[in-house]
Amino acid sequence: MSSTAIVSDPADISPTHMGSCHCGHVTYTGRFDLANGHIIKCNCSICNKKGYFLLSPKPEDSFKLLTPPRVSELLDYQFGKKLVHHYSCPKCAVSVFIKGFFEMGEDRVPFQAVMANTLDGRVDGEGLEDLRKGQFKYIDGRNDRIEFADEPFEGGVW
Ligand SMILES: [Zn+2]
Repeated sequence: MSSTAIVSDPADISPTHMGSCHCGHVTYTGRFDLANGHIIKCNCSICNKKGYFLLSPKPEDSFKLLTPPRVSELLDYQFGKKLVHHYSCPKCAVSVFIKGFFEMGEDRVPFQAVMANTLDGRVDGEGLEDLRKGQFKYIDGRNDRIEFADEPFEGGVW
C-alpha cells in the first residue's frame, strides 16, 4: 500500500504496462505486479460510486503520466479533507488514477494507484494476459482501516 510498506527487491522487477483513458487523451506507463500483487476494492463513498479497481505501481515512482504532459491538465476531483486527488480525463471522463494520503489515526500514509481497468497491456508485447491473474483484496476505507480481506466490508461490493 504505502511506499514504506513495500520492500523492494532489485531482482523482483514488475513488468511495465501502458494504460489510457477511453478516448486516449490520457496515457501513462508504470510497473505493475499483477501476478503477485493485488487489485484493491474499497467500501468508501467514492470507491463505491466510481467503481474503483485500485492497483498501485511497484515501485511507486515507476508511474509516469505521458499525456497530457502536466497533471494540471487533468480533471482533478477532491472532497472532504482534500487528501486525495482523483484524476480523470477532461474529455471522456474516465477515472485514471488517484494520488494522495490515507489517514490512519494520526498518520498520513502516501498512496497512489491507477484504475486497473485502464491498463492496455505490457510494453514488452505480452498483452493483457496478466490482468487475468489479478487478485482482489478488500479494504474498509469507510472506517479508515487499511487491512486486506478476501471479501468486501460492510457497504462494499465484489
Ligand atoms: Zn479520455
